[in-house]
Amino acid sequence: MEWCVSIPKVELHAHLNGSIRDSTLLELARGLGEKGIVVSSDVQDVIMKNDRSLSEVFKLFDLIHVITTDHQTVTRITKEVVEDFALENVVYLELRTTPKRNDSIGMTKRSYMEAVVEGLRAVSAVDIHFTPHDLDARTYVNSVNDTFHGTSRKKIYVRLLLSIDRRETTESAIETVKLAMDMRDFGVVGIDLSGNPIVGEWITFLPALKFAREQGLYVTLHCGEVPNHEEIQAMLDFLPHRLGHACCLGEKEQWMLKSSKIPVEICLTSNIRTNTISSLDIHHFADLYMAKHPLVLCTDDAGVFSTSLSKEYNIASSAFGLGKRELFELARTAVDFIFADASVKQDLTEMFNSAAKKLD
Ligand code: 5GP
Repeated sequence: MEWCVSIPKVELHAHLNGSIRDSTLLELARGLGEKGIVVSSDVQDVIMKNDRSLSEVFKLFDLIHVITTDHQTVTRITKEVVEDFALENVVYLELRTTPKRNDSIGMTKRSYMEAVVEGLRAVSAVDIHFTPHDLDARTYVNSVNDTFHGTSRKKIYVRLLLSIDRRETTESAIETVKLAMDMRDFGVVGIDLSGNPIVGEWITFLPALKFAREQGLYVTLHCGEVPNHEEIQAMLDFLPHRLGHACCLGEKEQWMLKSSKIPVEICLTSNIRTNTISSLDIHHFADLYMAKHPLVLCTDDAGVFSTSLSKEYNIASSAFGLGKRELFELARTAVDFIFADASVKQDLTEMFNSAAKKLD
């Protein structure tokens, strides 16, 4: 496990509100409990419960959103989540979140995202690069190399994806895409489609997703969390830049996926905890890995599922028999699938190349 922590890693599928530290959530719940807004002991029970079905997870998110959705808290959790990833040697993070509107506290989707960016600015425990303009390549590469030896301050590149929740209307989804376009200078690189997979229809989101792609934004889709084959087919036909999960694919869909070479964000613990896949023995990671399909290990919701990216690498090692060299290569190839620009890719590539020389 220690070794999995020590290697540089790339995280491409992490939801902000799923990645909050338990201690922060409990502290926030206590605060709201004192104001009589929630019953904090009930909240505590729900937060600490470990096994949840996929639909129970979405109920939990509704509760988390009650606890976290004000500007100050959004800023705090963003800062903490980035620092937590960087401290376990995640050197590049694509953090996704659903811009939220809450009229009662004067929150707009834009002000929500401004609070997220404020959180990135507030990061202090590590060095962060999050806009396309704050690149200082040589310093970054050199210091990350040192990080691999645990000698210097951790460094992390962060880029943002704006999520469209499947409960949203077409208009609301398009509003999110427009916001993403406006916020490119603040590190926004793409759009994600997520939320409860049994809610909403593909046709509702398609106009916004097409628009995003036409505008040069990257698109990743939560796909195949439930066996909705019509939707899986439509998602594969759309040819997004990446897919999340891709669990419940039929034989023909698996064949299409492999032919398409669309990179898949694999979230092992999440799939098992939500019972989307009953056991790691039958997880599609093994088949895709053997087929040399582009894959990246991710956490999904490190807080909700009590995991970390290092743990996910460790699980892949024990469940699928991957050795150190194979794990390192898995981390390194993830650089090919990031949504940041070529100069970031180049820096990360150099950094992984240099770390590879020091592998034991
Ligand atoms: P947020 O977007 O509020 O920062 O992060 C939490 C949200 O991400 C949830 O409300 C849900 O919309 C989405 N999400 C988190 N985990 C999952 C998952 O495993 N599957 C899907 N489909 N959506 C998820």
